[in-house]
Amino acid sequence: MIEVSEVGPRDGLQSIDRIMPLEAKKAWIKAEFEAGVPEIEVGSFVPASLLPQLADTAELVAFAKTLPGLKVAVLVPNLKGAENAVRASVDKITIPLSVSETHSLENVRRTHKQMIDEATAIAGMIAAQPEGERPFFEGGLSTAFGCTLEGPIDEAEILSLAEQLMQAGCDEVGLSDTTGYATPTHVKRLVKAVKDVVGEDKLNGLHLHNTRGVGLANVLAGLEVGITTFDASLGGIGGCPFAPGASGNIVTEDLVYMLDSMGLETGVNLEKLLDVRKIVSAALPGEPLYGFVPDAGLPKGYPDGYVE
Ligand code: ZN
Repeated sequence: MIEVSEVGPRDGLQSIDRIMPLEAKKAWIKAEFEAGVPEIEVGSFVPASLLPQLADTAELVAFAKTLPGLKVAVLVPNLKGAENAVRASVDKITIPLSVSETHSLENVRRTHKQMIDEATAIAGMIAAQPEGERPFFEGGLSTAFGCTLEGPIDEAEILSLAEQLMQAGCDEVGLSDTTGYATPTHVKRLVKAVKDVVGEDKLNGLHLHNTRGVGLANVLAGLEVGITTFDASLGGIGGCPFAPGASGNIVTEDLVYMLDSMGLETGVNLEKLLDVRKIVSAALPGEPLYGFVPDAGLPKGYPDGYVE
C-alpha cells in the first residue's frame, strides 16, 4: 500500500493570493475523501495575518474529522500552532524545519536551535495528552535538496538535524523538496543516508515539487528506497514562485496514475479523483490546474490490460 497525502488545501492554497471560500474547501476535501485519498493536509495553524488563505484551518479540521477514517494532517510552525492543532483533534502534525538556516531565519525567523527547542516542547505537550488523543508528530526537513538562498546543503547538517528531531521526540522525519531541486539520484542517496541515521522505519514520506519536471521520477526513486507516503496536490495547484508556468507540488492525479499502473495499491479511484478538479476550478476560476493525465485522458480501456 502506497499512501497518497493530499496537500493542496495547505501547500497549494498558501501559494495563491486569492482565498478559497470555506465551503469550497470542504467540498474539495469531501470529494477527495470519497475518491479514497487516505490523508489530507487541510491547513496550517499560523496567524491569519501571515496566511489569510489558511485562516479557517480549525473549521476545516472539525469538518474533516467527520469523514470516517480520513487522516487529518496540519502543518504547525511552533508550539502555539501545535496546541491549536491538538485542541482541534488532528491526527498528524508536521513541524517544518528548514535545513537551510538562512531559509529558516527568513521564513519563520528561527534558528535551528530554536526550532529544535520548539519541536521538543511540542513533543512534550503531545506526550501529556491522554492516550488515544496524541497526534502523530512528524519533523519535516524542508529545503532538504537545496535552497534558493544557500544553494546545496551540507549532507552532514541534514543528518544531524534529522537526528536532533528524533531526539526532540518526533515520531518520524520526512524530507521536503521545497525548492524543486531534487533529482532521482539525490533522492536515493539522501533517503538512504537519513534512514541510516534515524532508522529504516523512521523516514517514510517525501514531499516533492515538480518545478523542474522530474517530480514523478523522484517518486520512482523514492519507491526504490522504501518510501511509502508521497505528498501531492490536486492539479499541482499553487504553481511555483520560482518558475512561472511550472506546477507546484507533484500532481495527485498523475501520481495516482503512475502508482496505479505499476500495480501499487493506493485505495484511490482515479476517475473520481479526476472529477474533483471541477470543484477546485469552479472555486478558483482562471487558476491554472496542471497534470498530464487530466489533459491527455486515461488510455483507452484503462485500467483493463494496463495495470502490471
Ligand atoms: Zn511544498
